[in-house]
Amino acid sequence: MKCSAMFLCAVIFCGCLAAQPATSQTPASRRIVIAASTLLDGKGGVLHNTRIVIEGTRIVAIDPHAGPVDYDLRGLTVLPGWIDAHVHITWSFGKDGKNAGPAATTPEAAYRAAGNAWVTLLGGFTTVQSVGSVQDFPLRDAINRGGLPGPRILTSGEPLSGRGEQTGTPEEIRAFVRKQKQAGSDVIKVYASGGMRQGPMTMSQDQLSAACDEARKQGLRTLVHAYRDAVRAAAIAGCTQIEHGLGASDEDLKLLAEKGIYFDPQAGLLLETYLHYRQNYAGTPYFPKTEAEFASMESILPMNHELMQRAVKAPGLKIVFGTDAVAGAHGRNAEEFVDRVRDCGVQPMAALVSANSLAAEALGMSGQIGSIAPGLEADIIALDGDPLQDITAVRRVVFVMKGGVVYKNEPPATLRPARPLR
Ligand SMILES: [Zn+2]
Repeated sequence: MKCSAMFLCAVIFCGCLAAQPATSQTPASRRIVIAASTLLDGKGGVLHNTRIVIEGTRIVAIDPHAGPVDYDLRGLTVLPGWIDAHVHITWSFGKDGKNAGPAATTPEAAYRAAGNAWVTLLGGFTTVQSVGSVQDFPLRDAINRGGLPGPRILTSGEPLSGRGEQTGTPEEIRAFVRKQKQAGSDVIKVYASGGMRQGPMTMSQDQLSAACDEARKQGLRTLVHAYRDAVRAAAIAGCTQIEHGLGASDEDLKLLAEKGIYFDPQAGLLLETYLHYRQNYAGTPYFPKTEAEFASMESILPMNHELMQRAVKAPGLKIVFGTDAVAGAHGRNAEEFVDRVRDCGVQPMAALVSANSLAAEALGMSGQIGSIAPGLEADIIALDGDPLQDITAVRRVVFVMKGGVVYKNEPPATLRPARPLR
């Protein structure tokens, strides 16, 4: 691999201290050729010994004869940048080390959110959907303007939180959805039930149906936090995507598949993060007060695994990749692949596709991201290893390009200098 003249590459590779916006180094006409010996196309296909041609922000050709080569990624596994359909990008630990949640608005919190975006990108995720905080808007916009390095962010802004009758009448809920659209939301987030372990639905079928119907009329998708009965209710309401889903029956999963509703259960990263950082979370809103009480969370992990195992077997069910990454999980989103494959029997290729073309489809962005094909954004990553043989290769992201800009280009331990390509 060579560092080329790409500025950000130089920053990382050569340790330069100067910093400039990434896009200031992205001439629209710059042509880049990447050589790959193994390329996963994001849709389940594998290509060998080919080259990707990029102009500006987009892929313009897959041509084994293209040259000269700017980035020699032979010996690695090249694939589309990953998409995480459910994160909380602004969540971080505050000065006191405690979970600061979604509402922190201090300058320190803003910098920590920018740091979350940076490590998420370096971890191979070039697009994330962050759901549930208005603090996501300025971060999304700063990255889009090229002022900060980070993944492309889609966000819900303020969520619709079910509070029984207080959630509002169907008309009031419709007005809330329209207000979110005006505020610039890319998607509507709905909390339709309580937490992982207990609690009934927090809104009625009529309220939930109003939310998802109005969003559809406004051209927006809906992501619904749902456990138990709320899963079926969200399916009946025709919502776009259902999050978490513990307590869903096989009949519920069948209904989701029939209606083409995306399902986003988590296999482990979220709970592993809570358990690992229990002292940072204990006593903060919505979390157990003592570290000892966190032990009860360990019993939920097998329930997550069991649900994913059943979901994988549901014919035609579209399981999307979403980690629910919170403070402590940013940059480690790919651990969820390991959990899905190691603990839940998900096939490695299916796990990877769920974060590529399937996630792009769920976001309504199939024409822009999620696969390596002419016309799509040049979001390309490379792993040191073969994730189809050993899923832990997802931990070794050594190359990251987003929209034609290289943000990471590290020589992998296993790569020996290759014959120069012409
Ligand atoms: Zn969440």
